Formats: sequence, C-alpha cells, structure tokens
Amino acid sequence: MVFPYHLCQPDNQKSCAACCGLYNYRDSSRAGLERRLRRHTSCLRPPRPLDGAAFRSYARRFRPRENGRAKLFPTIYNCEFVGFLDRSETTVGCLLHPSQRHGDDWRRLSFHGGSLCADHFCLSYSYLTCQEQETVILGVDDWYLYGLVITDIDLVKTYCRHLNDRLGYTFVARLIEHPLLKEVVHRFFALKINWPFRAPEPDRFGKYRFSDESYQEAFIDYERFGLRGSPYDAIFRSLGSEFAAGDEVRDAHRLIDSHLERFLTTYESLPLRS
Ligand code: SF4
Ligand code: SF4
Repeated sequence: MVFPYHLCQPDNQKSCAACCGLYNYRDSSRAGLERRLRRHTSCLRPPRPLDGAAFRSYARRFRPRENGRAKLFPTIYNCEFVGFLDRSETTVGCLLHPSQRHGDDWRRLSFHGGSLCADHFCLSYSYLTCQEQETVILGVDDWYLYGLVITDIDLVKTYCRHLNDRLGYTFVARLIEHPLLKEVVHRFFALKINWPFRAPEPDRFGKYRFSDESYQEAFIDYERFGLRGSPYDAIFRSLGSEFAAGDEVRDAHRLIDSHLERFLTTYESLPLRS
C-alpha cells in the first residue's frame, strides 16, 4: 500500500516508535523513556558488528526487563530493540532495521517476527487525512511529542476540524512550515505534555484507563457540574483530563479557545495564503 507520508519516519527531525511499545510504561515520561532508549542504543549502537547470537543473548537479557512490572498494558509488547537512531537523539526507531544494519534485516529476531514489523501501518495512516497528517508532521519536531500526537487520532482530527470550521474553509497545512504558525501548532500539541487538567494517574494514558489486562475509555461527567457537555470533549479526553469543578471545565474551554484563535490570527496574517 502506498501512503502519502511516512508517518513512522517523516523526516530527520523526529520519528515514532509507539507501536513498538515505546510509551507502554507506567512511567512514560520523557526522562524515563530516554533512559530506556539510551540503554538499548548503547548495547546495540550501529555499526557495532553484532551477529544473531549476540542479538539473541541481548533479547534474553532485556526482553523480561522491558515487559515486567513497569509495563502499563500487558497485552502490548514492549520491544527491547527500539532505540535512538542518531547520535543527537532526535529520531527513535528500530535498531534491527536494515537501514541501521548495512542492509541486513534482523527484525526476524523480534518478538513479533520480521514480516509483522515490516508490514505494520497503524490506523493513523488510513484514518488521518493528508491535511491532518501534514499538520502534525510540520507542527512537531520532537520525537517524544510526535509519537504521542501522531497516534492520537481524536486529538488531531478534532483540532483540524475546529480550525476548518472557524475559518470556513480547509486550511493549507503546508503553511505550517512558516515558523510563526509552526510555533502555534507546536504549542497546541504540547498540551499532551503540559495540560494543567491532566489526571495524575499512572494507569491513565490519554483517554484510556488501564487495569491489568483490560482498559476502558475515561469519560467526563459534565452533568455533575451542571453542564451539558463541551465542544472540546474529544480534546479534553485525549489530554487525559480530570476536572474537580465546573470552573475548571470553563477554564479548560477558554484555554483551547485561545489556542484555536491564535492559529486563526497567525494563519490569516501570513502572506501568500492559497
Ligand atoms: S504507531 Fe504508527 S506512526 Fe508510529 S511507528 Fe507505529 S506505525 Fe509508525
Ligand atoms: S523489532 Fe519490530 S517491534 Fe522491535 S523495534 Fe523493530 S520494528 Fe519495532
């Protein structure tokens, strides 16, 4: 299948490894993931000449460590072969991939097997429109944030829909290349990390709440606050919100409003819109 954008490795500024289990830890903070990625990378860093026996021995040592109690959702496998792909630690990905191994594809040694690793394309490839994909690719140049956002279909779709609705037409995502607009988009998506109403639960990831082998969507009980709901409900849930009072919902609403407005004023001030 041919896709317009390679969401896993869109450019040399960032990349994603979410489906390799990168965020599937109770501590999925940037610092926590960096520690794991550095550990894997230092053992397997190309061009270190490793053979099958060395990879297997490495897997025996690290596979249980990555899939033990620190794991968030047991059903998702956390791969021990994911690491930093460059010395400046801007891109993450598979250390068994042929691009890292002088053309040899060692993914056959992975837990999933080579063909599953090679042929997997997550739902974002088919569910996000070109405009939505481009918005994330151009708006986020940070591996940690990029992986969180490109896999959050609700967040990306709702953001773009509100922007299109307010403008009254489909915005040209390519214009996010402009540094001013890029900054605006980045700030919005960075709410995934610094959202002030985020539930302080280690078992929560975005809109999902995990418990042992099961998970469920977390909903917001607006009626409890005498409210009917929110046009930003999908965004609130993607950001893992938990509100203690109606005033907090109203503050959150104003915050999202301000991000959307900032996009509009910046976008409309750019030259050469088409
Ligand atoms: S989650 Fe999607 S974008 Fe990310 S590495 Fe997997 S297939 Fe690629
Ligand atoms: S071996 Fe497969 S699951 Fe592991 S990092 Fe590579 S692509 Fe991801």
